[in-house]
Amino acid sequence: MGSAVHDNIKIAIRDVTKLYSNNSHSLIALDAINLEIMDGEFFCLLGPSGCGKSTLLNIMAGFEKPTDGKVLIEGGEIAAPNPRYVTVFQDYGIFPWRTVQENVEFGLEIKGIEVNERKKIAEVFIKMVGLVGFEMRHPIELSGGMKQRVSLARALAVNPEIIFMDEPFGAVDALTRMKLQEELVKIWREENKTIVFVTHDIDEAIYLGDRIAVMSSMPGRIKSLLDVPMNRPRLRTENDFLRIKEKIYLEFFEYADKK
Ligand code: ADP
Ligand code: MG
Repeated sequence: MGSAVHDNIKIAIRDVTKLYSNNSHSLIALDAINLEIMDGEFFCLLGPSGCGKSTLLNIMAGFEKPTDGKVLIEGGEIAAPNPRYVTVFQDYGIFPWRTVQENVEFGLEIKGIEVNERKKIAEVFIKMVGLVGFEMRHPIELSGGMKQRVSLARALAVNPEIIFMDEPFGAVDALTRMKLQEELVKIWREENKTIVFVTHDIDEAIYLGDRIAVMSSMPGRIKSLLDVPMNRPRLRTENDFLRIKEKIYLEFFEYADKK
């Protein structure tokens, strides 16, 4: 009784506080954050630069420790990075000396998967991200969008339960970004992953997220938690989209009292 909902919690953030201090001052990067992210959810963290999005994501992924509080993944406290959860960063994080194929196979090598199996798996994900024909290319020969596809394919190849994404499309042009967003949603729906996606782009958050945590800075807090009750694929021009967009704008810019 009553546990059905809680059974679905994938990530629980409990009173997470992060202080950065040096001799002269200390900064509250995160102030007692509480959040629950559900299994299979596409969850967006949205906020201006410096509000603590990356800090929170890095704590969830086990790269950083909170000063106070904890993060539970499936009920277990996360203390270090874990191959069941992968992170995709804005700067791709792919190896320049490896080909596309070798980059996608990287995590599989680490897992000790044998060469033929690796090739087969890599093929599936190279296809999924639209890079067939580029297997033997090196990153320097690829556009920003293509590098990000490599990074995504490499993340997906290890079959992670959770994908943490930190402004992954921040460095690609607007049109490519929309294409990547569309493809990411498609992949997410096919693969049943939990995705935690950090962005400072309101449209991106509404296009992608089941829910959006809107953050504010100094100190980093969750300002509000919004549902995006829209079917997919979403249209950026439909009324629901624009309504949510206006709501978020009002929160950031507090125009409400001027209307
Ligand atoms: P965001 O990703 O939302 O831009 P960050 O999580 O990177 O924000 O940073 C939140 C705040 O914490 C910023 O004020 C930033 O300068 C500060 N900060 C982040 N990492 C460190 C660090 N290693 N040492 C000191 N301050 C940091
Ligand atoms: Mg950041």
